[in-house]
Amino acid sequence: MERRFVVDAMLGRLALWLRLTGNDALYSPQTDDNELISTAQREDRILLTSDKDLYRRAEKTGITAMLVRGNVDSEIAQVFAAFGIPARVDPNTARCSKCNGPLTHLKGPDKERVRNLVHEQTYNYYDEFWLCEDCGSVYFQGGYWRNITEYMDRIARMISEMNNQSRS
Ligand SMILES: [Zn+2]
Repeated sequence: MERRFVVDAMLGRLALWLRLTGNDALYSPQTDDNELISTAQREDRILLTSDKDLYRRAEKTGITAMLVRGNVDSEIAQVFAAFGIPARVDPNTARCSKCNGPLTHLKGPDKERVRNLVHEQTYNYYDEFWLCEDCGSVYFQGGYWRNITEYMDRIARMISEMNNQSRS
């Protein structure tokens, strides 16, 4: 069974990292509380919220919800720990961080599809790209990839610290 999420307007960074780690996470900053509740019900999604009132309402409605509080890093670590999400980004399973769309892996001659979507230098330099079929965003393992990896390492360390604390 696939676990899917809907994320409230305050948790944009969390939504981004859920998508990059391959989780289906709906997020739109314009979505109001009623829409969040009805989306969670209709699509059987777990509601992640930083709003206590919304959390209580969700629980009364019978929706699976999690109250997520703290700074951004700890919010991400809490949710990953709670749902056993590995803090690792694999571009072959990642979803588009911008729109939650699925990514298509393009390698070798298939990369032709992104020729007009990236700078020429980038196109020539990289052999592999990942294209979002919904919004046309293109991903490749450029300089920012290191930042992604470093950030996930940091979240992984926070999760293992949380686990150690709960054991002792
Ligand atoms: Zn997209």
